[in-house]
Amino acid sequence: MPMSQRRNVAALSVVTPAMDKHPASAEPDPAPQVAETALVHFVLQELPLGLCVFDGSDRLLFSNPRYLQMWELPAQFAAPGTTFAEIMRATDGVETEGSRNQPKPASGSSGTRRREWRLSNGRIIEVMVSRLPDGSCVALHEDVTERRCAEERIAFLALHDTLTGLPNRASMRDELEAVLQPGSRAEGLAVLCLDLDRFKPVNDSFGHPTGDLLLQQVAVRLRHCVRATDKVARLGGDEFAIVQRDAAQPSASKALAQRLIAAMAEPFVVAGHVVHIGASLGIAIAPFDGNDADTLHKNADLALYQAKADGRGIFRYFEPGFDQQVQVRRGMESDLRQALDRQELELLYQPQMDMAHNAVAGFEALLRWNHPSRGVVSPADFIPLAEETGLIVEIGRWVLATACLEATHWDPEIRVAVNVSAVQFRPGSLERDVMTALHQSGLAPDRLELEITESVMLDDMAPAVATLREIQAHGVRVALDDFGTGYSSLSLLRSFPFDRIKIDRSFVRDLGRREEALAFIQAMIGLGSSLGIATTVEGVETEMQLEAVRSAGCAEVQGFLYSRPAPAAGLVALTATLNELRRPKPTALRSTSPGHA
Ligand code: C2E
Ligand code: CA
Ligand code: CA
Repeated sequence: MPMSQRRNVAALSVVTPAMDKHPASAEPDPAPQVAETALVHFVLQELPLGLCVFDGSDRLLFSNPRYLQMWELPAQFAAPGTTFAEIMRATDGVETEGSRNQPKPASGSSGTRRREWRLSNGRIIEVMVSRLPDGSCVALHEDVTERRCAEERIAFLALHDTLTGLPNRASMRDELEAVLQPGSRAEGLAVLCLDLDRFKPVNDSFGHPTGDLLLQQVAVRLRHCVRATDKVARLGGDEFAIVQRDAAQPSASKALAQRLIAAMAEPFVVAGHVVHIGASLGIAIAPFDGNDADTLHKNADLALYQAKADGRGIFRYFEPGFDQQVQVRRGMESDLRQALDRQELELLYQPQMDMAHNAVAGFEALLRWNHPSRGVVSPADFIPLAEETGLIVEIGRWVLATACLEATHWDPEIRVAVNVSAVQFRPGSLERDVMTALHQSGLAPDRLELEITESVMLDDMAPAVATLREIQAHGVRVALDDFGTGYSSLSLLRSFPFDRIKIDRSFVRDLGRREEALAFIQAMIGLGSSLGIATTVEGVETEMQLEAVRSAGCAEVQGFLYSRPAPAAGLVALTATLNELRRPKPTALRSTSPGHA
């Protein structure tokens, strides 16, 4: 160490009270003085902090190596006598904003000040400058880069979603509150709540990592749909929100909602899979639908709930009545959760008649909910809710078990048909549920027929087809329900070897109303017979309709003409009655049909 520095280290030990063990009056013992100087020297060399000491005229008295290293300064800047101003000119740091705004201690007074610099190499150096009573100055330098990055990251995380990098719920709320401050202009502000349709099946079938990739792609598309002043946030799961500002409302939010829906309807390619999702949206506009962040968000959410209930893939503006409707729906949802436990669900059975033998070939199990205050609730009213909430999986399991058990009481020639919802395919447990129902009831697999609709195949055909093939391999039959109503009935027939097609009752309803109705039925029956697939015509209510479908070559018929869905207890008698009737007359039939709906 050069002599000058060595002197300064000694000087430091005098000006730093904490290090000064010797009272000024006592005569220092030369041997301990040397040991102490060496110790101080060692500490200063090894200190992970940079240190420099200036005299009262801001000239460097002493510095340690870490200081030079930290500021990437050449060795000459460690020379005693270098002024503070010279050192500052040689560094390429910029004082950070927070540091600049710190109050300075009053001039001439002693005190400590913290300053922070960002160097061009990206490092951040914090300097603690202490002015001592004699005017000299000690500066401690610390590289706080990692600490500041961690702090910035924590601050970012508090307001952002880690998966998509979008602002989170808290951030959106802050933004809304800032815009909606009293006195600020909230006109033109719309809150759009967006929920992805059919996200869950993607997550369930391809796994969460793929679901995560999809959400990231969704975030990118959403950002592309909005202007720079709009804010897109992820609220959680597959829920997003957009705050649209300073726009002509409601036209701007309508246009944005249409753009968002169109963007989400375009297929995504995720981890090698083509997936089709979609989005439903609810919109609330300030100040009409709320003047504060919470009300606007709540009302946009209610509108979203309505959009989903109205069929998804659409947007709805908030209306004051929604609150109540949602209450009713939520009430129904919680009732439905308990319906199974309370044994409020019941299966009715509708016969499927074999035309050639005029005999009952099977019964379709149709679900009813005997609600304690609402009375009998139709499946059309609660199955969509059960599907939305996922309750259909548990309910469907019960339907399978109950229907299979019930069928064991019938003539062994008669099969049972069970409706299976698309949602039941998602958890991957359908095959197990079917096998459990067969095993526990002892029903022969070929007496069970699953009725599925096109919606099962809509999201992604491959996993559904694989499940159906396995089920079919056990001997269970599979029917394609509501045939002719979907978009791709024909291509579905190519993708899976269905055992039966059930021609939708809308075709029968059109008989006698639309000339081409019979041609359609004939074509579908012809298609079935050339493919070797049995056909059942649904919804036959009159003798005229029966004659028409019989002439078209239909093998099986189901409809109110024979019987409405009937309780399990009367099925043996109903079978006997129906089998007795050789050529059914409408009047005779109606009087013998058990009149349940
Ligand atoms: P679906 O599978 O098409 O069932 C046939 C529907 O047509 C039944 O309505 C039945 O009562 C009705 N129907 C039968 N014959 C006639 C007729 O001659 N005229 C008229 N107008 N209607 C007739 P339901 O029982 O109200 O069931 C409605 C839908 O609910 C079913 O349509 C099915 O999609 C669903 N569903 C019923 N039970 C279950 C179930 O256990 N699970 C699932 N996932 N869905 C079910
Ligand atoms: Ca059906
Ligand atoms: Ca049907």
